[in-house]
Amino acid sequence: MAIFDPEAEQMGREELAQLQLERLQATLHRAYKNVKFYKRRFDELGFLPEDCQSLEDLARLPFTTRHDLAQGYPYEMFAVPLREVVRIHSSTGSPGAPIVMGYTARDLRTWAKLAARALTAAGVDRDDVVQVTLSYGLLTSAFGVHYGVELLGASVIPTGPGGSDRQVQIMRDYRTTVLVSTPSYALVLADRMEALGVEAKNLHLKVALLAGEPWTEAQRREIESRLFLKAMDHYALSEAMGAGVAAECAHRHLPGMHLSEDHFLPEVIDPQSSAPLPPGELGELVLTTLTKEASPLVRFRTGDLVRLDYAPCPCGRTLARISRIEGRSDAVVIVKGINIFPARVGQVLAGLPEIKGKEPTYQLVVGREGHLDYLEVRIEVQEGLFFDKMTVQREFLLKLSRKLEQSIAVAPRVKLVEPGSISREAETSPLVIDLRK
Ligand code: ZN
Repeated sequence: MAIFDPEAEQMGREELAQLQLERLQATLHRAYKNVKFYKRRFDELGFLPEDCQSLEDLARLPFTTRHDLAQGYPYEMFAVPLREVVRIHSSTGSPGAPIVMGYTARDLRTWAKLAARALTAAGVDRDDVVQVTLSYGLLTSAFGVHYGVELLGASVIPTGPGGSDRQVQIMRDYRTTVLVSTPSYALVLADRMEALGVEAKNLHLKVALLAGEPWTEAQRREIESRLFLKAMDHYALSEAMGAGVAAECAHRHLPGMHLSEDHFLPEVIDPQSSAPLPPGELGELVLTTLTKEASPLVRFRTGDLVRLDYAPCPCGRTLARISRIEGRSDAVVIVKGINIFPARVGQVLAGLPEIKGKEPTYQLVVGREGHLDYLEVRIEVQEGLFFDKMTVQREFLLKLSRKLEQSIAVAPRVKLVEPGSISREAETSPLVIDLRK
């Protein structure tokens, strides 16, 4: 399998650490000198950029949060004068002001290269026709991938989102080989194809490059079997750059996405205590940008829950891998004083032998009766979960509750609900409904 930038992606770990340190020092200098926010933060600690003599020194600095970035609205976080900024994007961020990201001309070139790495790792080459269904707008969504495709020399069809019937028609007529979308939109397209009587196996699709929301192995299997393609995961983070931060290679049996560590320095921390976690443990990903000129980030808390893996990969890339995004640290819900990550519930459900790989749609409802919290897990009914005999049904749900309790330390009520009553779209149907608020 091809590697877009072998020199960087197969660099020896020692050489990489040296490069990271040099770039980190340059980033800290730039941030300290040009961004008031960072100068104030460093000064409070008595930390000067030259105090960073090793990669471990970074841990002495405080985290940067989305709230911090939003406070800098619109240009306070820029580390270059506006005349050097050639592109401005913004993200909706958390409630409050949007987060504005600037890109210098060099930042944009880096972005295209990193997206090209991700596309190449997914098996895309210059002969491909790539349909980008992500949005072209203020959000970074489509842009990085778009320029990455052009840099590779493949053909890009910038459809943007929506108009599913037209997407399917273009896919058929233009002989699209690569779909770029969110995992849920890939399934929307599969639904449309069925409704329109278009057989996916007669199309030319071979790869889907998916990102933008947490998804599961079960969803991957569903997308692959319904669209007749290989569904590849990659990690897009708008505050860090956009698409192309990390991407899966052909060795998908080793879970994880190669992180472009020469541009982003990763840490994984316990989201509650902020203590650093060793490789392999699930925690919140913290990234420091190493090359970004316009909008550098120092220890940015992504809110994404991942595991880091430094084990060598047979593909030859030496870059560490992050696991698929297993949830959001801010999605943690506290029931009876216990932190529950909704993603853990999803993992248990996805692992049930009864469902034969078709992961059920589920939702957590938290409420209070008297002074006691309760947790209800609602699951859309599907084959394998439903039994004609009431007693068998009740036994099954009890068994499932006990199984969930082993994983999340709280025994939930498990309730089956009508198919389709929990929407796939995160916007209209949050994973957690908290009735206590
Ligand atoms: Zn690999």
